Amino acid sequence: MAGNRTFTMIKPDAVAAGHIGAILAQINKAGFRIVAMKLTHLSAQKAGEFYAVHKERPFYGELVEFMSSGPIVAAILEKDNAVADFRTLIGATNPANAEPGTIRALYAKSMGENAVHGSDSDENAAIEGDFHFAGVEMF
Ligand code: ATP
Ligand code: MG
Repeated sequence: MAGNRTFTMIKPDAVAAGHIGAILAQINKAGFRIVAMKLTHLSAQKAGEFYAVHKERPFYGELVEFMSSGPIVAAILEKDNAVADFRTLIGATNPANAEPGTIRALYAKSMGENAVHGSDSDENAAIEGDFHFAGVEMF
């Protein structure tokens, strides 16, 4: 059965560029309900833990540095088929390959600074949501 929840972050590049409102409007328009949300700033250690799955990749150091470089918006979103539909809404990892109108096509600067995160599975959506939020912060 398709899962109902995904986890997202509006990354430091998009927050710094003033795109929080526009991105949230696009998320709402696409039919996602906000279950949990906060503006926060990851330490390098927390960013490293979050992306630990990429530890062996050549871009890991750069990714951790970028994700801890400024505030982010973290959120849990709900909708039928949330994980897959959200990844369609954000577009490809590299904005040069992202479909026109997707969040990354509109707001991402590069493969590294690509405006938003979206979970890649129901299992990771739950893990990532729990990483950022306590149960009492989910509504
Ligand atoms: P995310 O997990 O952030 O939603 P994704 O699932 O589209 O992105 P992943 O393969 O999980 O892509 O990579 C995680 C993040 O690492 C990317 O969003 C991007 O910021 C960074 N990244 C991935 N590949 C590269 C690369 N070749 N060079 C620089 N940064 C990269
Ligand atoms: Mg990913």
